[in-house]
Amino acid sequence: MDLFSQADDAARAAELRDQLNRYAHAYYVLDAPLVPDAEYDRLFRELQSLERAQPELRTPDSPTQRVGGPVLKELTPVRHAVPMLSIETETDTTPAGAEAFDGRVRRKLGLEAHEAAIEYAAELKFDGLAINLRYEHGVLVQAATRGDGEVGEDVTHNIRTVGSIPLRLQGRPPALLEVRGEVYMRRDDFERLNARQRELGEKTFVNPRNTAAGAVRQLDPYVAAQRPLSFFAYGVGAIEGWQDAPLTHAALIDTLASFGLPVCEHRCVASGAAGLVAFHARIAALRNSLPFDIDGIVYKVNSLALQRELGFRNREPHWAVAHKYPAQEELTELLDIEVQV
Ligand code: NAD
Repeated sequence: MDLFSQADDAARAAELRDQLNRYAHAYYVLDAPLVPDAEYDRLFRELQSLERAQPELRTPDSPTQRVGGPVLKELTPVRHAVPMLSIETETDTTPAGAEAFDGRVRRKLGLEAHEAAIEYAAELKFDGLAINLRYEHGVLVQAATRGDGEVGEDVTHNIRTVGSIPLRLQGRPPALLEVRGEVYMRRDDFERLNARQRELGEKTFVNPRNTAAGAVRQLDPYVAAQRPLSFFAYGVGAIEGWQDAPLTHAALIDTLASFGLPVCEHRCVASGAAGLVAFHARIAALRNSLPFDIDGIVYKVNSLALQRELGFRNREPHWAVAHKYPAQEELTELLDIEVQV
């Protein structure tokens, strides 16, 4: 590569970092995105490929090296006992994306082509805000946002207003159980909320995702209580004293449901890449009729022992991937509407 194109790449990487950091701040901190997700993802991938080709372009402030954004200074910071990470996005939105992920997992585990298919748990990728719910002896004691992955925001006051989140778990939960999941807004609740705003002559909200994120991060729980929020559990954080802990992700989700936590019915245990492709296609067909927004599917290695063996890279686990659907939103959709949190 000649010196001119190297200098061009360095300038382009710096430009992308600035642009993405500005967009991420608007999205994560202000809950008021400046561009559609598809545009953000496109620029993110461009920066990732520049950094992959020339690792010296990778700076510590690059959005590819970080999770989420800083916390709002008005809310109390919470240091997570177990970091809340991101999930790698599979760039290929065709079935080949699922095959690429399965191939990476098999190579990392040193499996030959003739060896048995890997079992995966496939779930929807809910388009909301990640939350960590801390239950001590079955009682909800704290709820925190993901923040930058290490430090989130204490939003217990608002999460208590979400009717479907149990304040006390049923059954025999472990002494300490951190439940991770997504707070989101159903499409019909979003439409009703905007109809009410119009009646009152108030500004309407842009989309369910940012309305939910804005509601969770309100300082006043009365305001949050006026915004109809829902929740799906999809994982766990810190745990203590769990004698009969589940051995697979699918069993873990079933167990969380038995504790009274809301989980999504659309999930499956899939065998190998073929099983993932089938689930991806099945959900594509019903995506528009779901009562809430998703932005893809998440594939997770089902065995928790294999997850531990596969481990993490700096901001993402090696055992999970987000397989998105081709982007549907248009730039104008976002820019035509005034953002309000
Ligand atoms: P991510 O894509 O890295 O995925 C991790 C998140 O997925 C988790 O924190 C969780 O909240 C969520 N999730 C939903 N369903 C899940 C499931 N079943 N299992 C596990 N996790 C699940 O999240 P991110 O790093 O917050 O980035 C998300 C997206 O945000 C990006 O792809 C981008 O499109 C968007 N974004 C948009 C802008 C913008 O300006 N429009 C800016 C920043 C980020």
